[in-house]
Amino acid sequence: MKAEIIAVGTEILLGQIVNTNAQFLSEKFAQLGIDVYFQTAVGDNEERLLSVLEIAKKRSNLVVLCGGLGPTEDDLTKQTLAKFLGRGLVFDEAAQARLDDFFASRPVSARTPNNERQAQIVEGSRPLPNATGLAVGGILEVQDVTYVVLPGPPSELKPMVNQELLPYLSETSDKVPKQLYSRVLRFFGIGESRLVTLLHDLIDKQTDPTIAPYAKTGEVTIRLSTKASSQKEADAKLDQIEKEILAIDHLSDYLYGYGEDNSLAQVTFNLLKEKGKTITAAESLTAGLFQAKLADFSGASNIFEGGFVTYSIEEKAKMLNIPLEELKQHGVVSDFTAKKMAEQSRLLTGADLAISLTGVAGPDELENQPAGTVFIGLSSPQKTLSYKVLIGGRSRSDVRHIAVLHAFYLVRQALLSNENLV
Ligand code: ATP
Ligand code: MG
Repeated sequence: MKAEIIAVGTEILLGQIVNTNAQFLSEKFAQLGIDVYFQTAVGDNEERLLSVLEIAKKRSNLVVLCGGLGPTEDDLTKQTLAKFLGRGLVFDEAAQARLDDFFASRPVSARTPNNERQAQIVEGSRPLPNATGLAVGGILEVQDVTYVVLPGPPSELKPMVNQELLPYLSETSDKVPKQLYSRVLRFFGIGESRLVTLLHDLIDKQTDPTIAPYAKTGEVTIRLSTKASSQKEADAKLDQIEKEILAIDHLSDYLYGYGEDNSLAQVTFNLLKEKGKTITAAESLTAGLFQAKLADFSGASNIFEGGFVTYSIEEKAKMLNIPLEELKQHGVVSDFTAKKMAEQSRLLTGADLAISLTGVAGPDELENQPAGTVFIGLSSPQKTLSYKVLIGGRSRSDVRHIAVLHAFYLVRQALLSNENLV
């Protein structure tokens, strides 16, 4: 919805008053999500007001006129709008009753024929009662353009806008279209059941925004949805509920990103690019899955030049130049092997960082370690570390997939940490 505010009054053009009505209206409309594209000021002059209306009609669908509703000759807003639309002026009964009340306690001579004009509206308008004055306002829709007429004095305009106009605009849903806006929060390292348990109270009392958790392989997302009239209004509501969620029991520690089409691999890839770091990998149970994920992203060659798939113990020894005896001594599913694989792949390729993945994809155990036991090595010039992860009760494919997520997570943590790991 494109709105235009037309302030009518020569005083504005002469610099005698500041057009605070336009500022007030713009602020209120912005809150409602109505886009104000133009603010115009025009003098109390029929011809010029007609020309302004002609322009406004073509470029806006909400045209708000303020000022010039009073009883004097220079107050010509309603008369000019009526002329512009080819309509007459009619009396609003309630406004006339207000005039009667007002003048009841005053001398008869005080009421002039001009006062009657204050109770008039353009034919077909919906009247906007004036709680603090005598001039009635109006709303009129003609050929997809909504015209609004408001009094000039801020003491009259503001209550009319707050009590009459804004409720009308937000109720008539086609004026302020409510859309569904959502935001997806992505978490890694926390299970769905734990997350849902922590969010139980919030989910229980949810109305708007709604909170919908989804479990994916190895990660959980929460979709927050709200109906709003603008992105800005939606963002304010979504920011608030997100803040409440992340304040619960360190949940913010698990949040790694936003968006439906995002992934841990994507945010880690972006971070590597941003920091100008290259990466390599030596993969056993995942057999290239980590490296394949990197290559999914355009621009991968900036951060990835190559790596290793070392499935058997012999290839680990041969390709990575690790003494076979040492590997046999420690076992392939071990802290030692993970570190060696990471370190050697880094040294052999000259990459800034290296990841290694070695473990038991399952379903059978290996070296007395249950399926799902994975050691992930991370090597940088400063340090080489290894992490043990247990991915229990999962299919072979899930174990490999989740192991890769952990690897990306470790890289992300290392890049974000202050411990000079990278
Ligand atoms: P009245 O019945 O008082 O004549 P009106 O609806 O005819 O009201 P105007 O005559 O244009 O409105 O202006 C009346 C007074 O309202 C101005 O003197 C000024 O103090 C205030 N006013 C008018 N327009 C604006 C504006 N755009 N911003 C701020 N104040 C305004
Ligand atoms: Mg006036």
